[in-house]
Amino acid sequence: MSTGVLGTEKRGIRELGAEEKVGWDEVTRGVVLDSFEGDATDIVHKKAEERNYSDFNSYTATVASWRIIKPVYNRDICIDCQNCWVWCPDTSIISRDKQMLGIDYDHCKGCGVCVEVCPTNPKSLLMYSEATDNDEALAGWPQKEKKEKK
Ligand code: SF4
Ligand code: SF4
Repeated sequence: MSTGVLGTEKRGIRELGAEEKVGWDEVTRGVVLDSFEGDATDIVHKKAEERNYSDFNSYTATVASWRIIKPVYNRDICIDCQNCWVWCPDTSIISRDKQMLGIDYDHCKGCGVCVEVCPTNPKSLLMYSEATDNDEALAGWPQKEKKEKK
């Protein structure tokens, strides 16, 4: 069973240390902070992980520590409807060629919207405590709910 996790190490994203952070009170008013290093004219044709992000781009910093609950993704049930990708307010659902690949845990803030909009029975995304091991969550995934006959 796949965990559907793309973690920090795989994405190459680092948590900025305090010494690397730029304090907003130190930035000159009106200054332009480049989102990308070097030429960015073809940026639209590159996949997110291939882009040359600058340290000022939010993509290069993780907000994983803000979260106390997280979505866990179950590939075995997912029907690739893309609802979660459309509704995630933090662009933290990773999808390629209309196939759901997993959660970007570096930028997911644990709001639970993706779980709410997932239409499968049982859901293919469920919220768990941040401390929960994903494989354990997947091993105890709920079964399909039967509809009551009227
Ligand atoms: S919990 Fe919220 S931020 Fe995280 S993937 Fe789901 S919708 Fe996006
Ligand atoms: S909403 Fe649920 S079924 Fe649809 S792509 Fe996302 S995880 Fe898969």
